Amino acid sequence: MKHQPSVLIVEDEPAIAELIAVNLRHNGFAPTWAMDSASAQRELDAVLPDVVLLDWMLPGESGLSLARRWRADARTKGVPIIMLTARGDEADRVAGLDAGADDYIAKPFSAKEMLARIRAVLRRRAPEQVGGVVAVAGLSLDSSTYRVVFEGQMLKLGPTEFKLLQYLMSHAERVHSRASLLDKVWGDHVFIEERTVDVHVKRLREALGDAGAMVETVRGAGYRLTSRPAVPLGSPVPVRAHA
Ligand code: CA
Repeated sequence: MKHQPSVLIVEDEPAIAELIAVNLRHNGFAPTWAMDSASAQRELDAVLPDVVLLDWMLPGESGLSLARRWRADARTKGVPIIMLTARGDEADRVAGLDAGADDYIAKPFSAKEMLARIRAVLRRRAPEQVGGVVAVAGLSLDSSTYRVVFEGQMLKLGPTEFKLLQYLMSHAERVHSRASLLDKVWGDHVFIEERTVDVHVKRLREALGDAGAMVETVRGAGYRLTSRPAVPLGSPVPVRAHA
């Protein structure tokens, strides 16, 4: 089944929330609804949605203040936020974006516009979820056929290793901390320890065989995938217990 992006709607007006939810459902999204900031926080604590539609004017804590808080929190800072509001003037738009919102929709808005903005935010925020082929040096990964090939040889990877490799290849040469890999690859790491990343990196290197050295441990920082590994391709990767 196709992945249905989850959308958390934070909106205190039931009629508006319902209208948004119906439109989202009809267009392949999985919406949930929170009617105030406290329940929105509970939803986010339970599971990280793919996108948050956040109303500015909420009873109690405002949407703007929620956005600021979520952006300041390492666990939630990567969740795309689109502010919904009746306020349309430039100063308010700027305040929303300054608070960390990714985009801004002024009410009243059309369902078409809302969907377009959600899709745009998803594209910007999650390039690793977009299908297609990514290639680094002799290694290539095709997410539509689920194939990984190194120098003409097909490799067998587990689903988590595949996702991890896809992320590392889409962001090659950059160093990723364990926490950020958990966020980006696992999506919601409430119940997962950072040690889990090490386990899957080890499995990934084994599955990559001669290309295993491309996945480098950067001491004290995390991991990166590089086309120019310090250890020559084909040699065994030294395993450090505490990198
Ligand atoms: Ca409202």
